[in-house]
Amino acid sequence: TVRTRFAPSPTGYLHLGGARTALFSWAYARHFGGKFILRIEDTDLERSTPEAVQAILDGMQWLGLEHDEGPFYQMKRMDRYREVIAQMLQAGTAYYCYCTPEEVEAMRERFRAAGEKPRYDGTWRPEAGKTLPPVPEGRKPVVRFRNPLDGDVTWNDVVKGPITISNRELDDLIIARQDGTPTYNFCVAIDDWDMKITHVIRGDDHVNNTPRQINILNALGATLPQYGHVPMILGADGEKLSKRHGAVSVMEYPAQGYLPEAMLNYLARLGWSHGDDEIFSMEQFVAWFDTDHLSKSPAQFNPEKLAWVNNHYIKQADNERLANLVRPVMEREGAQFEGAPPLASAIALMKDRTNTLNELADAAMLFYRQPNPEAALLAQHVTDAVKPALAQYAEQIRTVEWKKEALSAMLKQVLADHKLKMPQLAMPLRLLITGQLQTPSIDAVVELFGRETVLARLAKYL
Ligand code: GLU
Repeated sequence: TVRTRFAPSPTGYLHLGGARTALFSWAYARHFGGKFILRIEDTDLERSTPEAVQAILDGMQWLGLEHDEGPFYQMKRMDRYREVIAQMLQAGTAYYCYCTPEEVEAMRERFRAAGEKPRYDGTWRPEAGKTLPPVPEGRKPVVRFRNPLDGDVTWNDVVKGPITISNRELDDLIIARQDGTPTYNFCVAIDDWDMKITHVIRGDDHVNNTPRQINILNALGATLPQYGHVPMILGADGEKLSKRHGAVSVMEYPAQGYLPEAMLNYLARLGWSHGDDEIFSMEQFVAWFDTDHLSKSPAQFNPEKLAWVNNHYIKQADNERLANLVRPVMEREGAQFEGAPPLASAIALMKDRTNTLNELADAAMLFYRQPNPEAALLAQHVTDAVKPALAQYAEQIRTVEWKKEALSAMLKQVLADHKLKMPQLAMPLRLLITGQLQTPSIDAVVELFGRETVLARLAKYL
């Protein structure tokens, strides 16, 4: 069975690139009815924080990318890494190296001076017939991986195609530091092996790590996973995505009023395509997802397109659900819900033109605050010329059937009686009833406010 993993380092928030890699790995597992594993790579003690772990878990939960196994924490697997290191020392696929960092640096400098690639010179690497130097007293060794000297490492990257790296390019990697702690590439290789990962889908900033991990896995006699390295996400200016391009933390998006399904749909199209399809459900995505259609070139993040996708999903979303999401935002803005129309109905009226839930909240405030029209606007729109028509409207509204069609017919009749054009009456009505000039159709607004409120608000000025 297919087993994929998402293996973030908890050194910051879950960013868009990470979320997209997680989405691809998740979808691949789901597509094949396999398992999706979450692994927290927290061995960098200086940069890893519990807050960052939580931010990753929150982000994954918001997106609904559920894992089947984990989260596993590398810091809790130290015994296992030590065990494998001991086995490798035993088997001769790893060896102790007593060089100090200064000595290694001096070696590298010598190679550099000779115009060669700086590297470890193999001083402590055991070879048949070679005598190793005497062990310096009181010095703690590092453990190095005995990398093959010749040949190539080749893999058929499911995104980039065949990649070949010569073993000459690869040093004898340090797999355990002087204090015995295992190093990054080693832990990843052991985890992928132990967790029986079949497909590693990750950012292409890891391409250089892959041959090292493959060599370690080969030395252990492990079955290799397939690797797929996804190009990065760039900003519209072609630079690597960063804060300058807007929010990069996934969890800033719910705060700005994005729906998770919009974010998922948008991320799915960032570096993967299915013909011209732009809008699709996660169910559809899982059914379609394959690595053949992952792009070899970097994707560009486009906030306008994300907003467009969000608008689409807001229009689709259930009004009660949207009401629950925007209510807290509106409460912070001082909305008064008592005696006001149901929020879901206001949302139904406003949601078509809003790109985010925060915009929706702002728009819906119209129904939940006292109108406070500016004096200058009142003077401009509530003129003596229209006052008789407004008075007639206010009178007839007492008894008219409370339906949008009836309200609309009534308004048209008043216009005809007074030989006015729609805006001449609609604008002052908007101003008096809502305090603003931009609203959805006046009949819909009037209908939603209800007879009492409309009468009271008109009475105040007429
Ligand atoms: N922990 C790595 C990162 O956050 C990912 C490692 C991997 O996917 O192999 O970049």
